[in-house]
Amino acid sequence: MSTNFDGLQAQFENEVASVADAESLRALRDRWLGRKAGLVTDVRKQMGSIPAGDRAAFGKAFNALQQVVETGLERVGQELSQRENSALIERETLDVTLPGRDVTMGHEHPVTILRRKIEDIFVRMGYSVEDGPEIETTFFNFDALNIPEGHPARESQDTMYVSEDLALRSQTSTVQIHAMQRRTPPLRVIAPGRVFRRDTPDATHNPMFFQVEGLNVGEGITLADLRGTCEEFVRQLFGAEAPVRFRASYFPFVEPGCEFDYQCFVCKGDGCRVCKGSGWIEMGGAGMVHPQVLRTAGIDPELFSGFAFGFGIDRLAARQFDLDDIRLLYSNDLRFLEQF
Ligand SMILES: [Zn+2]
Repeated sequence: MSTNFDGLQAQFENEVASVADAESLRALRDRWLGRKAGLVTDVRKQMGSIPAGDRAAFGKAFNALQQVVETGLERVGQELSQRENSALIERETLDVTLPGRDVTMGHEHPVTILRRKIEDIFVRMGYSVEDGPEIETTFFNFDALNIPEGHPARESQDTMYVSEDLALRSQTSTVQIHAMQRRTPPLRVIAPGRVFRRDTPDATHNPMFFQVEGLNVGEGITLADLRGTCEEFVRQLFGAEAPVRFRASYFPFVEPGCEFDYQCFVCKGDGCRVCKGSGWIEMGGAGMVHPQVLRTAGIDPELFSGFAFGFGIDRLAARQFDLDDIRLLYSNDLRFLEQF
């Protein structure tokens, strides 16, 4: 018997012990069991040339060698996959002692915070919140509000036109008309929303800003109701009594028209930095709904009267949050927004 079975077995044990990964295991398997040139295969090929008398012993020794090689390869294969599994577990183990990643929470925009507060106050006073289109026909934006053809407010340098008959609404007063057409008095609505003007942005102007419009139509509504409503609103908004004053003014859709101020609640009218020394803070415009506006919206001015008011939410926010530039509200700068 010329084949050195013991030598081959020792050689295999030696080689299998140095297998480090799946690739070298595969190479070792090919080297020993490969169908064409494997060492074990070579030995099997010798079988035919073994004299008949020695063949049984050769066969036994061959089987033993084949067994050693196969079990050796299998054992190492299992060891390798176990090692790989533990490495995987190691890699994927969650270290619960590591500090967590912060989840960044957003919150409402300052204008939204104030708008909601305003809505809540009026809803408590029996008003409903109305919505209207931001693109309006010139009828709703002007004609129905008693702003006839040729009126300076219709000029294109103030209004952003979409086409000849359509414009981005320049005031939320348009919603008054929709509300009066849809419902019958008594009606109390507020309409907060965006309005658009061709203004050059600066510290106190933005081409898009938020307004709230209020409308109260019923039997026997008077200026005294308007005054009481404004006073109550200011009291609830600032949590302090603040007298309201009206100054005569002109808006085409009200008669009489006025601007209303509230007394500065910081200095109680003596004058301070907040009110720029005047003792009063400007709030917005108001007045009794013009009979022509009521009539256009299908309400008989002989039977009903009403008041309307409007003010800017952005300017109120600027004052409330002490901002020196209204554009901060639209810059989307997180350093600013995170302060609210
Ligand atoms: Zn003041």
